[in-house]
Amino acid sequence: MANLQGKVALVTGAASGNGRGMAVRFAEDGADVVIADIDEPGMEETARLVRQQERRALVRRCDVSSKADVDALISAATSEFGRLDIAVANAGVVESETDCLRMTEEQWARTIGINLTGVFFTLQAAANAMIEQGRGGRLIAIASIMAEWGSAGAPAYCAGKGGVKQLVKSFAQAVGHLGITCNAIGPGFITTQMTRGMRDNPAVERMLIDRTPVGYIGDPVDVAAVAAFLAGDDARFVNGTIIFPDGGITAGNYSGAMREAREAAQ
Ligand code: NAD
Repeated sequence: MANLQGKVALVTGAASGNGRGMAVRFAEDGADVVIADIDEPGMEETARLVRQQERRALVRRCDVSSKADVDALISAATSEFGRLDIAVANAGVVESETDCLRMTEEQWARTIGINLTGVFFTLQAAANAMIEQGRGGRLIAIASIMAEWGSAGAPAYCAGKGGVKQLVKSFAQAVGHLGITCNAIGPGFITTQMTRGMRDNPAVERMLIDRTPVGYIGDPVDVAAVAAFLAGDDARFVNGTIIFPDGGITAGNYSGAMREAREAAQ
């Protein structure tokens, strides 16, 4: 458990999946939570889960690809709760039914607009609010293992996540001396709506599990645990880096089936 008593945490994309997992974890650790998303029923459910922890929840509709929406979100957060200590730029989408060779300008712009520009807007507005308060803070951006890899079917997603991994380094340098850290989290495959299509295909699901050294797909609690660490005092010296809660899938060219075959041959 991180001690986040008395702190205010903001999470974008908090209506489901990893965003909801982080919002609930921050509440469990004592923070009040600002819940931002474009999915209003999903946000209400996250707010219910936060309030179940006897913490306050503020629900705010925000399209992170709009600078005006993000600026209004940060203003609402600080005026409602009087402070902002932790901001997580988590909202994201993955393009589907396209690839490098067919992707349209609109598809490219939408994914980059949410996954990279939206992260920039969120980190910038939150950083400026934290600087004005003078109490330090924690900026966290959700990247992906795709910050390390390419994918013929998701070029904008990979480019955007690679951009997020780089972006946190610049913010880390811009605000570190003010007691504000900025880091990224690079999840592996996690059981959320985003990966449902892959997990619904048994052959793809088996392949993902086979390539993951721990032998299973992650849960939003695994991402939330890293976010809680980065948000807490124990992470004060961690700045400008990326942590991969990915079961070891980025560790190398692993296959569970190959490992079993090798063991059987010994
Ligand atoms: P998800 O689809 O459950 O959640 C994404 C959330 O972002 C949704 O609630 C959605 O409404 C919201 N959103 C989409 N566009 C938005 C916009 N313009 N403004 C505000 N909110 C918007 O999927 P998830 O897996 O929980 O994704 C959360 C983050 O985790 C994303 O950045 C994703 O890229 C990242 N991630 C996910 C995985 C995975 O395996 N699930 C792996 C690596 C990284």
